[in-house]
Amino acid sequence: MKILRECTNCEGTGLIKFFDFADEAEICVICKGTGAEEYFYTKYTGRKELRGINYVLPITSTRIYNLGINKEITYKEFQEKIIPPEA
Ligand SMILES: [Zn+2]
Repeated sequence: MKILRECTNCEGTGLIKFFDFADEAEICVICKGTGAEEYFYTKYTGRKELRGINYVLPITSTRIYNLGINKEITYKEFQEKIIPPEA
């Protein structure tokens, strides 16, 4: 999906000021001076399945370090324990 959001580069002004003391500004390269930028996103419709996964490691794990060593939880346990928000 696409929405228009305030340009994050120029904070919606359409201009970039290089120095606080300056009285001139350059047209924003991202929004071309409009102050708006298109934002594309995929709407969340529920957690999808990741095929071929048997084990799930915690967020802090280093992938290579844990590979085949610390099988924290099974994918089935992940699906049961970590409940996604309602779409
Ligand atoms: Zn801009």
